Amino acid sequence: MIAYLNGQYLPRSAATIPVEDRGFIFGDGVYEVWRAVNGRLFETDRHLARLAFGLRELRITEPDIVRRDVLDSIADRLLAESGLLEGEATLYVEVTRGVAPRTHQFPPAGTRPTVFAMANRFMPPNDVRTRGASAITTADVRWLRCDIKTIQLLPNVMAKQAAAERGAMEAIMIRDGVVTEGSHANVLGVLDGEIRTHPLDNLVLPGITRAVVLEIARALSIPVREDAFTERDIARLDECFLAGTTADVMPIVRVNDRPIGSGTPGPITMRLFKEFRAHLDTSCAALPAST
Ligand code: PLP
Repeated sequence: MIAYLNGQYLPRSAATIPVEDRGFIFGDGVYEVWRAVNGRLFETDRHLARLAFGLRELRITEPDIVRRDVLDSIADRLLAESGLLEGEATLYVEVTRGVAPRTHQFPPAGTRPTVFAMANRFMPPNDVRTRGASAITTADVRWLRCDIKTIQLLPNVMAKQAAAERGAMEAIMIRDGVVTEGSHANVLGVLDGEIRTHPLDNLVLPGITRAVVLEIARALSIPVREDAFTERDIARLDECFLAGTTADVMPIVRVNDRPIGSGTPGPITMRLFKEFRAHLDTSCAALPAST
């Protein structure tokens, strides 16, 4: 497997960064994860726009990889040389503020950001989807800029670990009694005939999958209200599901060991999954190969 690091393609084991990289020292960076199907990236521009937004908000110099043509050529080479031109894969891109002596304030002007990318084989968890996943609830202890996709993921790591230790797939985070999102996916519910999910603000990541799923729901005339549901509402949900680059649309059928609705994947969730999957496949197939 190869990696891209600061303009070079290397065996992954040879792709190393200096210990004074601010990503290592401070978690001072942002990342993106794309889905790739048969060598083609899904929603390239929306992920790039989110990456550019994070860099802008954190005042990290924008590297070339934020340009569509540069990203496409890096992705093509990584996917090709990693043997991932067929089937499912992910592309990971990370940008940190670069290497400088450790001091909290920004490094001197001209410090070059570190840019890293790799492609990995991905297996969609379709067996879990068929029976539905379980989740736990946990306190959302993150900072107040969850709209930026930073590499500082400790609260998400701790939340996911707590879920794993209880045999659950995901942790649903609760802030002030309200459901925000999962450890690495947005959380949506079906309540009183409407799809409900946290609005886009500083408390959640603006998920690309969330955006696509809501567009599909609206096109199908399924009512959507971007208004958070509460922890207490969970017991009243007819359906609950995750939306994320690696979750696609994933039904949640149990939360804290209590069933959601019938305790099986709900009809709205599975309809949205079917439509989303078809859209993923057709939009990747429709793109002209850039190699
Ligand atoms: N929320 C969080 C905290 C995430 O980390 C992610 C993805 O990693 C998402 C939501 C879903 O975003 P996307 O659909 O763009 O993958």
